[in-house]
Amino acid sequence: MNRDKRLPQLPSRRPMSRRTVLKAGGLTALAATATTVPAFADGTTSEATTKDVIVIGAGYAGVTAARELKAKGLRPVILEARDRIGGRTWTSTFQGQPIELGAQWIGPAQPLVNAELKRYNIGTLTGTPPTRMIMPSSAGFKAFPPDEVDTRFGALMDRLFEGAQDLFPKPTDPLYRKDLVSAVDGMSLRDRLNQLRLSAEDESWLSGTTAGYSGGTSDIGAYTALAQWWSLAGYNLAGYDAAMSQRLSGGMVGLLQAMLNDADAVLHLNSPVISVADDGTQVRVTTRSGKVYKGRAAVVAVPVNVWKTISFTPGLPQVHQQATAQGVGVPHATKVWMKVSGVSDRVMAQGQEGTTFTTLLSQGSVTGGQLMVGFNGLPALNGSDRAAVEAAVRVFLPEASVVEVVAQDWAKDPYALGGWALRRPGQLTTQLPAIQQPQGRVAFASGDIASGWVGFVEGAIESGLRAAQQVLRLTGYSVAA
Ligand SMILES: Cc1cc2nc3c(=O)[nH]c(=O)nc-3n(C[C@H](O)[C@H](O)[C@H](O)COP(=O)(O)OP(=O)(O)OC[C@H]3O[C@@H](n4cnc5c(N)ncnc54)[C@H](O)[C@@H]3O)c2cc1C
Repeated sequence: MNRDKRLPQLPSRRPMSRRTVLKAGGLTALAATATTVPAFADGTTSEATTKDVIVIGAGYAGVTAARELKAKGLRPVILEARDRIGGRTWTSTFQGQPIELGAQWIGPAQPLVNAELKRYNIGTLTGTPPTRMIMPSSAGFKAFPPDEVDTRFGALMDRLFEGAQDLFPKPTDPLYRKDLVSAVDGMSLRDRLNQLRLSAEDESWLSGTTAGYSGGTSDIGAYTALAQWWSLAGYNLAGYDAAMSQRLSGGMVGLLQAMLNDADAVLHLNSPVISVADDGTQVRVTTRSGKVYKGRAAVVAVPVNVWKTISFTPGLPQVHQQATAQGVGVPHATKVWMKVSGVSDRVMAQGQEGTTFTTLLSQGSVTGGQLMVGFNGLPALNGSDRAAVEAAVRVFLPEASVVEVVAQDWAKDPYALGGWALRRPGQLTTQLPAIQQPQGRVAFASGDIASGWVGFVEGAIESGLRAAQQVLRLTGYSVAA
């Protein structure tokens, strides 16, 4: 999600400045490494001890759950499909700079991730505002004064989310006013735009946000999903921007690694799980290579979109099946990092529904140019095609040359099958409480099923904490009040 500016990836409208990124440069090496704990020698064949819990997925949700279970005396074994931890967070390097191919920003209104940063003494970096803001206009894309954009965009967002305080007076408890929420939960963001009867230009200003966050077109995402984010951020644009304004020193993987170290869990990388069988006494988890891991319980901490690729016995409840069939992770989320020459100022460009990039942000200088990050809406872009990326950039910046690119297409990633989560119309009222519940000895954790910050690392931590409590209950371990 655009976090540096408002969009597609939860943008905070304050892109990382070149200076800020350079400050982070020394942290690159730390950010890019993930430790593999040696395999648990007989864990693949022995009967489960009373303490074994199998955690499937080493993203923020799974690692949080593992750490909490370990702290209560259980013995977590984490099975991770990839050769790295982090899932939809992925700290990497490009042009000698640390980059995030997945989640990038956090904000002060996210208490859980901030508590983790404090716990592990990890700092944050805040970007510098853009000097040039490019927005759609009736005459094509053009630069507007940043102050004018803030005022006008703020007023449009206020209109978009009018009434959010009534819908979500307690934003971390989205069904607190279920009576009101039920009436509008079936509405898509496109429905809401239509309802507002905006001028063509005003709609184009908002549709970059609504389509971008929806991962394609505005009819995909639920109005209540984005309205809940707005509410969590304080019901105003300043809070919304601030909620996506900070990067982690050491990258997203640095904090996760600290949490994993604390979990002291056995971690098996390259271990995609294909089946989970609960016989009422223990859970048998089988990987693609045929290894079987047994535990008194399991935590399924893979994205909701991936549930459908795992065979569950007994089968998943119908509501889980519906959620994974519809998807919660957005269907289209390609994040493209590029080295750009010919542009020397700090740019924030916002597209509109239908432009290749819904957001393009300056991310700091490199020799011979600057780094930019783009969030691809529709039409779909091959993010590795330099010429195609350059053509998409030139829609906003005709003077730009794209020198090199690196991209991650999350929808094509078999262990994500989508991007950040943004609920579809109706999912909040018909699915959310039920899909948070454990089934037998199997609990579910994912940022996709959080109560609060769905679609954020904050939500993943929330869900991991909940799943750990559920496992403690279902294994008979005491749960702290
Ligand atoms: C492009 C993009 C930008 C984003 N930007 C932000 C942002 O700026 N700020 C923010 O807070 N959030 C952002 N998000 C959302 C954030 O990344 C997620 O909400 C969060 O990382 C979800 O964590 P998770 O642990 O629930 O899932 P994941 O991170 O997806 O972890 C699930 C893990 O399960 C593993 N797995 C999957 N299938 C199997 C299997 N069969 N067997 C074993 N393991 C399996 C995966 O490999 C993965 O490691 C962004 C997401 C994307 C895609």
